[in-house]
Amino acid sequence: MSEASCIFCKIVAGKIPSRKVYEDEDIFAFHDIHPWAPVHFLLIPKLHLASMAQVGAEHQALLGRLLALAPRLALQEGCRPYPQGGFRLLCNTGAEGGQEVQHLHFHVMGGPRPWLKG
Ligand code: 5GP
Ligand code: ZN
Repeated sequence: MSEASCIFCKIVAGKIPSRKVYEDEDIFAFHDIHPWAPVHFLLIPKLHLASMAQVGAEHQALLGRLLALAPRLALQEGCRPYPQGGFRLLCNTGAEGGQEVQHLHFHVMGGPRPWLKG
């Protein structure tokens, strides 16, 4: 899927509405449309990278910033603190990895169990 037809690029551009969690120059986060857990949002680079399989050395700083944001945003969105609370960070990659949307994204899920899935 190209950038032009990518639903997450359209969400970043505001062409598809989303419930925004966070935005800066390089990063966007928004609630998943079909949440598995009481807290479930997606953390993505604004840059269109299809998956983790396309990540190279030039993306190290961006990936580091994405991952470092996850705990802060998880607490902001209502996950309880570690260790009683916490969150699940998930990145499906490729068909056999269970990836459905071809724009790199990290799922951040948390909140009281049971969850719908996961
Ligand atoms: P994947 O299976 O690729 O790891 O996960 C894709 C996720 O994107 C799914 O959890 C799905 O619910 C979510 N999703 C798909 N389309 C949209 C959309 O248009 N808006 C939002 N907010 N989430 C979406
Ligand atoms: Zn994209």
